[in-house]
Amino acid sequence: CPRCMQCDTKFDFITRKHHCRRCGKCFCDRCCSQKVPLPRMCFVDPVRQCAECALVSQREAEFYDKQLKVLVSGATFLVTFGKSETPETMVCRLSNNQRFLVLDGDGHYEIEITRISTMRILTEGLPPGGGSARASGMLLQYGVPGSEGVSQLTLTAGEDANASKRPAAAWLAAMHKAAKLLYESRDQ
Ligand SMILES: [Zn+2]
Ligand SMILES: [Zn+2]
Repeated sequence: CPRCMQCDTKFDFITRKHHCRRCGKCFCDRCCSQKVPLPRMCFVDPVRQCAECALVSQREAEFYDKQLKVLVSGATFLVTFGKSETPETMVCRLSNNQRFLVLDGDGHYEIEITRISTMRILTEGLPPGGGSARASGMLLQYGVPGSEGVSQLTLTAGEDANASKRPAAAWLAAMHKAAKLLYESRDQ
């Protein structure tokens, strides 16, 4: 492209062309000067972005940070492994390096995030006329190293422990959003 897509300045030897690392369009230096982290694309250092993308990325980074704190601090759930009938009370959290889902109760389990193949949010009280239902649990399917097939577990926000239900719902919401970003970045 011969001109800045924002201000229409013509590119030459002095006015150099830059690409926004997010949308890939061409801009002059002035219109593409902000360097903002782009966590979902695995750039570790802030990268050059146009004004429009910088704003979106900035919000995304803030949002991501906030969700991450919720996920790492964890919440209490009733956890059902596979087809077991008896749920266990466990604390679920994201490991500090963000690579594992950690479950702590009588036992200790770690599930590698990249091995999770399905993540479905379970809702309760789905309004018949539409609207947003509240997340009450999550179903995960994942591969276990050294074994074939897929394992499954269900997290449910405790029924009778209302005090711990709110952090559980917040944790589920954060996990859902984080998964969305994860899958989006996988598709690119
Ligand atoms: Zn852009
Ligand atoms: Zn420009």
